[in-house]
Amino acid sequence: MMDIDLRSTMDIQITALEWMLKDDKYYKYYPDADEDACLEQLPDGTLKVTPEKYYGRVMDEFDYSLDRVYSGKSPILLRLQEFYKRCWVLKLQDPYISLIVTILTQNKTADSARKTFHRLQHHYKGIDVYKMAGADKGELERLIKTSGPYKADYIIRSSKEIIERYKGSLEWMRDVPTREAREALLSLTGVGPKTADCVLLFSLGHDVVPVDTHICRVTQRLGLSCASGDSEAAKRRVKEDLERKEMIPGMAHLLIINLGRDYCKAVIPLHHICPVEDICPKRGVERAEKPLETS
Ligand code: SF4
Repeated sequence: MMDIDLRSTMDIQITALEWMLKDDKYYKYYPDADEDACLEQLPDGTLKVTPEKYYGRVMDEFDYSLDRVYSGKSPILLRLQEFYKRCWVLKLQDPYISLIVTILTQNKTADSARKTFHRLQHHYKGIDVYKMAGADKGELERLIKTSGPYKADYIIRSSKEIIERYKGSLEWMRDVPTREAREALLSLTGVGPKTADCVLLFSLGHDVVPVDTHICRVTQRLGLSCASGDSEAAKRRVKEDLERKEMIPGMAHLLIINLGRDYCKAVIPLHHICPVEDICPKRGVERAEKPLETS
């Protein structure tokens, strides 16, 4: 039996956002069957899938555990690899689905994106580039209202662009250099650097590190990057440091996301229970925590 921490696995990767969360259960719509599969973790740790006929199909979506993701030399990341070995990487996702899910997460919570994507899947009985290119804009705006109605324009226009420029498919981006695939993604309406990196990593198998505010914060505290703050320039520096200096494969950034979510929180980092406390330089945080001296 695979040993999986479902919450952790579902919290940290774009791929998992195809699963809608409700009452501690995850629901994924399978268009070919026009039906949801439900996945939950029972108190004894086993995973239950309903209807049971989807068990094999659902389990097949879990690819490998995070203890197999990193083979470099950073003592911090090696420690985290072991610590988060019950967290799994899901199989690569269809790149168009990844693009839409990631657009829905822009400036919104993962939970909101999960719900909106699930709603879209049911409404269109499975989305694809042709259905979205021809979608009624007003209707789409209503369907994605909680994730930002303005994104209807992004979805429709980028879908039309994919049809016009790439014959309706992003699959070719798997086999070209990362820079070429990234530039093509960035040329689509509504796609910025983080969205492009998520599609490259979670769907197309390119080794890139998507960097956001949380990755910036934790990476700097861990001493893996000398950048400060989370400006666009700082994000570029963090990305460069992780990809080139630390040489970490893209999926290893999931270890940093886990750490930030569980321990290295923005306002009050939980040093006292953090699994890397003894080897973390805590760059930039200790001074901020000391009480202000008064004269
Ligand atoms: S020891 Fe503190 S600063 Fe370092 S990773 Fe843990 S919580 Fe963050």
